[in-house]
Amino acid sequence: MTRIVAIGECMVELAPCPTPDTYRAGFAGDTLNTAWYLRKMLAAEHEVAYFTAVGHDDMSQRMVAFLDAAGIVTAHIQRRHDSTVGLYMISLNNGERSFSYWRGQSAARRMLDGEGALQAALAGADMAYISGITLAILPDCDRARLLHGLQVFRDSGGKVVFDPNLRPRLWPDGAAMTGAVMQAAAVSDICLPSYEDEADWFGDATPDATAQRYRDAGVGLVVVKNGPGEIMVVADGQRVTFAPEPVLDVVDTTAAGDSFNAGFLASYLDDGDLERACVAAARLAAHVISHSGALVALDAPPLVPAPVAGA
Ligand code: AMP
Repeated sequence: MTRIVAIGECMVELAPCPTPDTYRAGFAGDTLNTAWYLRKMLAAEHEVAYFTAVGHDDMSQRMVAFLDAAGIVTAHIQRRHDSTVGLYMISLNNGERSFSYWRGQSAARRMLDGEGALQAALAGADMAYISGITLAILPDCDRARLLHGLQVFRDSGGKVVFDPNLRPRLWPDGAAMTGAVMQAAAVSDICLPSYEDEADWFGDATPDATAQRYRDAGVGLVVVKNGPGEIMVVADGQRVTFAPEPVLDVVDTTAAGDSFNAGFLASYLDDGDLERACVAAARLAAHVISHSGALVALDAPPLVPAPVAGA
């Protein structure tokens, strides 16, 4: 049995439905998306937990109930009286999506406030999963506490998995973002960057350069995603590349990387085979981007009907 703890912020998502002027509330967030897909991909004996902070209000209770219903362990989620969960709204203008956020005061920003809460969540866990958004939402001192807690976790045999998920609008400036990302890389065992973002913010000329930069920071296994392009995996003495099947009708790329990470980790934990993990990851991401929304049922029917045999 493997115990994985994802650490981050789950938000309320308001999506236009069924008309552009009425909205349906759901829940999403990068680390939560990965936890949700991991829970779906892993066998029942494994445990997926989420560590964050929420309020005591109705929406916070609903969020925790949503996680419970998905089979994600919520026992270590912090409850705060002084704040509630963050919110974002998706707007559609002529088919183009744009996002408005209300997350500045969200409870998740204070998730490290509780003395010993992170240590309790990680006690007995095998793997911790964080992203660049987890880093971005924390005050500087709490980010340092998180990284220290992860180092202690590693020292006792835990593995740390990190998706840099670069979001410059969450940081005061690019240098603060890239600096924090490389500090997190220094306490990570597996890193899952997306090449396009890394090239923009670190100036990497190739996916190889991205992989090498994280390897130089001490990461054992680096998986460089690249949209429809070749996936590259670099580990000690191994370099695997894998071309994902082209997705002809991309409906919504939300959570492509988050679901990819879940598919990769679930398969990698199963048998340690890097190529099979890439196949599983790309297959799951392809399914997700062929549907609308961040959390897509694994048995959701394809939106594009399969061609009729012989037609
Ligand atoms: P990204 O974070 O954009 O690099 O995408 C993560 C993963 O989603 C990629 O490694 C692919 O497996 C998959 N993916 C994203 N965009 C596409 C696409 N247009 N066609 C096929 N797969 C894609």
